Amino acid sequence: MSEPASPVPRKFDTNLVVIGAGSAGLVTAYVAAAAKAKVTLIEREKMGGDCLNTGCVPSKAIIRSAKVAAYIQRANEFGLAAGPLRVDFPQVMRRVHDVIAKVEPHDSVERYTSLGVDCVSGSARITSPWTVEVDGRTLTTRSIVIATGGRPFVPPVPGLADTGYVTSDTIWQLKALPRRLLVIGGGPIGCELAQAFARLGSEVTQVEKGPRLLSREDPAVAETLTARFSAEGIRVLTGYAAERFEQQDGEKIAVCAGADGEQRVSFDEVLVAVGRRANTDGLEIGNAGLELNQNGTIPVNEYLQTSQPHILACGDVTGPYQLTHAAGFQGWFCAMNALFGSIKRFKVDYSVMPWAVFTDPEIGHVGMTAADAEAQGIPYEITEYGIDDLDRAIADSEAHGFVKIVTKKGSDRILGATVVGHHAAELVTEYVTAMKYGMGLRKILNTIHIYPTLAEANRYAAGNWQKARISPLALKIAARFHRWRRG
Ligand SMILES: Cc1cc2nc3c(=O)[nH]c(=O)nc-3n(C[C@H](O)[C@H](O)[C@H](O)COP(=O)(O)OP(=O)(O)OC[C@H]3O[C@@H](n4cnc5c(N)ncnc54)[C@H](O)[C@@H]3O)c2cc1C
Repeated sequence: MSEPASPVPRKFDTNLVVIGAGSAGLVTAYVAAAAKAKVTLIEREKMGGDCLNTGCVPSKAIIRSAKVAAYIQRANEFGLAAGPLRVDFPQVMRRVHDVIAKVEPHDSVERYTSLGVDCVSGSARITSPWTVEVDGRTLTTRSIVIATGGRPFVPPVPGLADTGYVTSDTIWQLKALPRRLLVIGGGPIGCELAQAFARLGSEVTQVEKGPRLLSREDPAVAETLTARFSAEGIRVLTGYAAERFEQQDGEKIAVCAGADGEQRVSFDEVLVAVGRRANTDGLEIGNAGLELNQNGTIPVNEYLQTSQPHILACGDVTGPYQLTHAAGFQGWFCAMNALFGSIKRFKVDYSVMPWAVFTDPEIGHVGMTAADAEAQGIPYEITEYGIDDLDRAIADSEAHGFVKIVTKKGSDRILGATVVGHHAAELVTEYVTAMKYGMGLRKILNTIHIYPTLAEANRYAAGNWQKARISPLALKIAARFHRWRRG
């Protein structure tokens, strides 16, 4: 792509302009300021972006309330008597907003100003490869990092706009618990919120047009989760797409089409959670000679540079992961490559990217699934351990789920791991560390794990890997040896 004719300024107001103060932009600005650069961080809405205000933080807060509700309903199982569950939804939502308020100072203008970042409130527009305009003020800058995130995608389904809907942006403003909630989308956001609202008392139907929930995960994950959702009263319609929305006698209806015909689902509120789109509206990246990918994200190379090497992008606006820790991880590379790229560039490496889905059971994952290994033609082996057998899980009445590890064929090298169960997101961290530092299953097996913990599941899984590899001949020889020793 040719650079638009735009003279390079002889002097710059700042070393780095970061557009967007979400997870990606905040880390970029933090690292740049720590490296003693002059950095300007521009945010048009709220500091903290999606994660703090409408994403991870509120969702994890409501999931917590929902989990407590689920425990109250299971009180008898623990030998406790509790009255019938009464949910004070406005109070649940007040707590969600209190949690946001408590985390807010971590991402605040005050904190970032104290770190040496120049925080500017306003909507940024790129006016040339070297200039950014915010509310009529133009800044010349040596580098730009675009970290403008994403927003929920709302598909143009007939009738949806008239019926009204909420997204992950707006659901936090609900004043009353919907009696019947329809969730469109079977990805992580749809699953987490479907279960949370069901546990708080909504009658939930979840519609997913693909053949299973959580299509990125191992199929056993979807199987386990769908079984749990059904047991908790969530109606899961996989293989159905919402085709149109109707209103009849004051009743809202979604007409969903699948292989077995149509399903008409009546509802009071619908959550649309079918994916997210990059935020580039109003940014005018064309002024810097940049173009978008077909899916609306900003294309970058392995150094997170766009086609203009001094303009970089990170977080949801570029992908490939839509995760807070992925955005933060990229932020470091963006800051370093923006500031020092002319001397040394740092290549981003996603080979050990973990994630979690905070449903119950929780899902923690890192690396490849069996399907990934197969698609890449990598010979692999699978080792599994059932958490139903684990002492601590039994003591906690959480004896369910599994550990599934993908190893390179003929080796203990971990290619990927999936944990499903209580605190799975914490458990998977052991595999993240192992993969990052090249430790195989033998090292996990030879590491002392505290008894009784859920983390022992990882050691037992490694034990299963080892057991399957003990040679029958060696066992035969050992048995003979002991017989001989007995005389
Ligand atoms: C319901 C939900 C739950 C989630 N849960 C998790 C989770 O548990 N774990 C996890 O890892 N991830 C989770 N995510 C994903 C996570 O929130 C995102 O991946 C992360 O916030 C992306 O950060 P970002 O900095 O790229 O974008 P954002 O956080 O969206 O920040 C971009 C910022 O740029 C600003 N901006 C945009 N355009 C301009 C402009 N022109 N000028 C100035 N400012 C601009 C926006 O206002 C915004 O504040 C969740 C998301 C949702 C919706």
